[in-house]
Amino acid sequence: MSQATENTRFLVPLADGLSVEAVYYGSGTLCISSQAGCAVGCPFCASGSRGLLRNLSAAEMWQQVEYAWSSGYQPLRVTISGIGEPLHNFPPMLAFMGRCRDVKLPVSLTTTGGPLARFREALQWPHNGLMLSLHAGTSATHRELIPHAPPLDGLLEVLEQALATLSRRRRRKVGINYLLLQGVNDERAELLPLIPLFHRFPELTLHLLTCNPVADSVYVSPPAEKIDELHAWLAGQGVHARRPNPWRTQQFGGCGTLFVRSL
Ligand code: SF4
Repeated sequence: MSQATENTRFLVPLADGLSVEAVYYGSGTLCISSQAGCAVGCPFCASGSRGLLRNLSAAEMWQQVEYAWSSGYQPLRVTISGIGEPLHNFPPMLAFMGRCRDVKLPVSLTTTGGPLARFREALQWPHNGLMLSLHAGTSATHRELIPHAPPLDGLLEVLEQALATLSRRRRRKVGINYLLLQGVNDERAELLPLIPLFHRFPELTLHLLTCNPVADSVYVSPPAEKIDELHAWLAGQGVHARRPNPWRTQQFGGCGTLFVRSL
C-alpha cells in the first residue's frame, strides 16, 4: 500500500464523459467533489468558472473514495471541499456522508452557506468539521468574492444561533475559511467586523488560506510576511486563527485550483 508524502490529484471519469477531481492530501485527507462545476460563481475559482454542469450522485461521490483506494491510497478522513457547493446537492451529499460513517471514515465539508435553511441544519449534523467560507468581513467584499452565497449578515445570524446551541466540543468542529487575496481582503479593516464573533465563541477557528495560481486570474495571495503580520494581529485580538495549512499550499492543494472537464 503506497501512502503519499505529497498531494496527489485524481481525475475521476464519470459515466457520461465528464470527469471531476479529487485530491489526496499527504496529510491523509481525501478531498472530493460534490458537483460537476458550481453555481456559486466565486471569481477566483477555476472549478466554478463554467457554472454548474450537474450534481453528482452519492455513488459518484463514493466513486472518488474508491478511486483513491484502487490507486493505492488509504485516506484517514474525507472532506467534501472540492468542486461544487455541497449544500446545493443535499440528499446525495447526506447519503454520501452516511456511507462514510458506515465505514468509520470521518467526513467534513466546506460550504458557502446557502441555502440558509440547509446551512442551519448542517451545523447540527454529526460531521467531523464544517467550514464556512466567508473570505470577507464586510458585505460588499463578501458579495464580490462569493456572489451567489446568502448575504453575510444572514449567514452570521444563522451561525451564531447554531453555535449557541452546540457544546464546546462541537463548536471546535466549526470554522471560518478566509482566503486571503492581495489588495482585496487582506487589510485589518476587512477582518475587524468578524472579531466579536470569535470573542463570543472562542472555540471557533479562523482558517487563513492562500490560493494557488490559476491561469488568467487577477487574484493572488499576499506575501508570507503579510500573512504572518495578520496572523499575529489576530492572535493579539484574541482570535484563534490558523496559518495556511502547508498541504494546501503545495501543488494540487488550495482553493480554486480544481477544474472539471469533459474527457
Ligand atoms: S470556490 Fe467553491 S463555492 Fe466557490 S465557485 Fe469554486 S467550487 Fe464553487
